[in-house]
Amino acid sequence: MSACGRVAIVGAGWAGLACATELTAADTPVTVFEASRQLGGRARSVELDGHTLDNGQHLLVGAYRETLRLMRRVGAEPASTVQRTPLRLDYPGTFRLELPELPAPWHLAIGLFTATGASLREKLSAALFMQRLKRQHYRLDRDTTVAAWLDAHRQTGILRRFLWEPLCLAALNTSPAQASAQIFANVLRDSLGGSRDATDLLLQQCDLGQIFPAQAAHFIADRGGEFRLSTRIGEIHRQGNGWLIGDEHFEQVVLAVAPQHLAPLLASRPAHAALLQMVAGYAYEPIATAYLAYPETVRLPFPMLGLPGPLGQWVFDRHDMGNAGIMAFVLSADGDWDKLEDDQLAPKLHAELEAAIGPLPAPRWQRTIRERRATFSCRPDLPRPGAATAERGLWLAGDYTYGDYPATLEGAVRSGIVAAQGVLGES
Ligand SMILES: Cc1cc2nc3c(=O)[nH]c(=O)nc-3n(C[C@H](O)[C@H](O)[C@H](O)COP(=O)(O)OP(=O)(O)OC[C@H]3O[C@@H](n4cnc5c(N)ncnc54)[C@H](O)[C@@H]3O)c2cc1C
Repeated sequence: MSACGRVAIVGAGWAGLACATELTAADTPVTVFEASRQLGGRARSVELDGHTLDNGQHLLVGAYRETLRLMRRVGAEPASTVQRTPLRLDYPGTFRLELPELPAPWHLAIGLFTATGASLREKLSAALFMQRLKRQHYRLDRDTTVAAWLDAHRQTGILRRFLWEPLCLAALNTSPAQASAQIFANVLRDSLGGSRDATDLLLQQCDLGQIFPAQAAHFIADRGGEFRLSTRIGEIHRQGNGWLIGDEHFEQVVLAVAPQHLAPLLASRPAHAALLQMVAGYAYEPIATAYLAYPETVRLPFPMLGLPGPLGQWVFDRHDMGNAGIMAFVLSADGDWDKLEDDQLAPKLHAELEAAIGPLPAPRWQRTIRERRATFSCRPDLPRPGAATAERGLWLAGDYTYGDYPATLEGAVRSGIVAAQGVLGES
């Protein structure tokens, strides 16, 4: 048993669960408080019309090393929860890039030069752009927007439209005109600039709850951890050297909530005024997932396809997730899609998919889940807090605290690990 007393973790998203998993693995007892009735936060399963789906379709990639490590640790074996496949960006009839199973950097070089839909000049320019970036160790002299950065490096035309901009939108959930070029460069460093397996797509084979949250909860509970669901924590108070939550004493506390949920927990503690002011300046971006349910025999030629718009961005076939016939259309960040009601949006997405792959039967039903504050808007020079706070024994976790990455599952998981290391270091 560790020397650490019981630790409270407020929030059972992927950050809180990663933190709880790491502490549990280090024999430190945890109690996890979660406001909602279920685990997973912004990456959770939902029941819709008798189907287990997700609050938002997610994509994991091979670069999510810490997520994969924790999945293995809790027994959610990636081999059965995600399907690893070489990166393929396929906009049927328009553009296709497929990375071959060759060691880096040949996978990228050959993938880029065999891509269809872009000119040789553009491909050369993109390869040189990646090379320059690598030479400068993915560090920009100063942060700017992705759009300005791509302009400065003459990344225009088809590869900008179907490679750089969609990657930016998918990873940062912020339009290139507003997104941080430095954070995008960090993403490129660890994906396209990393080893071959880092670029792999990890396509879900089950709902999000089964990929990590459910197994993590078993792992934690089997080793003495406690979960209090449907329990929203209000202000937290000092008690001796520790903390009081409700009427329970904890030696240390990790606040693993989204940035917009910090204020009610800390408002009465002046030491955190600067932190609250920092996160009060954050803007947020939406994501919608429109589920269109076709007859069960309908399949996409590949489980993830790009749509050239004007509305659709990506569509995922949920056949392998146990939802045969259900297509999940992902619409990231602020855009025209957000001005449409659900019943206007679905027919347009259906028409865009037909334009891409040919005639389809009419969908049997459609439902759209809109997450208004899906992620913080990842802007240039955005100030980000770390795990340590102004008070001893009080830590932060959550995607926004892992400053190297945008709001992603991997960022959330890594933030939870860093917070756990802080807790263990202090005990
Ligand atoms: C629709 C959508 C699609 C996405 N797609 C991708 C993707 O494809 N790939 C990817 O990597 N990332 C994606 N993301 C981002 C990713 O889901 C998030 O970065 C990640 O889930 C954030 O986890 P977190 O633990 O930091 O925060 P959260 O998930 O927000 O967890 C915080 C938890 O704290 C709880 N809480 C808040 N206040 C209190 C309180 N006072 N007391 C108790 N509990 C409280 C909340 O209920 C919540 O469960 C997507 C996000 C959304 C919404």
